Amino acid sequence: MEQTFIMIKPDGVQRGLVGEIIGRFEKKGFTLRGLKFITVDSAFAEKHYADLSAKPFFCGLVEYIVSGPVVAMVWEGKNVVTTGRKLIGATNPAESAPGTIRGDFAIDISRNVVHGSDSAENGRKEITLWFPEGVAEWQSSLHSWIYE
Ligand code: UDP
Ligand code: MG
Repeated sequence: MEQTFIMIKPDGVQRGLVGEIIGRFEKKGFTLRGLKFITVDSAFAEKHYADLSAKPFFCGLVEYIVSGPVVAMVWEGKNVVTTGRKLIGATNPAESAPGTIRGDFAIDISRNVVHGSDSAENGRKEITLWFPEGVAEWQSSLHSWIYE
């Protein structure tokens, strides 16, 4: 089954949105496979966002991500990468639909509360970076109520 890396960014933590965001993935039916509450350093944040290193907002983005603890998670399920991005909403909250996390809880593109992998391949890379120790092996007892 597909996995994705989801991170509640420092603003999401500071604003008390941790339970709300986890709840949306849980209630959708996805399975939590890994979770930790950590503060990362600049070198780590630069690695996570390496693809964006040439962008003008890169320095500010790294400062933002290291500014406080984040909730790093691995979620699993059918199409979880694409559907997870739909739950999160467009990068710029001005364009995120109401009902999405960013649409409901964010205003500025540089304070958009949550990260989600943009492809299954990047998901695998991000999970390896954030969870080198591996994730939990389990299957929800609700599995047959969520999948045919
Ligand atoms: N970002 C920003 N300014 C921009 C574009 C992006 O501060 O003009 C930040 C924003 O926090 C975004 C992150 O950089 O979530 C990563 O950008 P990406 O294009 O990968 O968006 P995402 O995949 O998070 O929707
Ligand atoms: Mg991205």
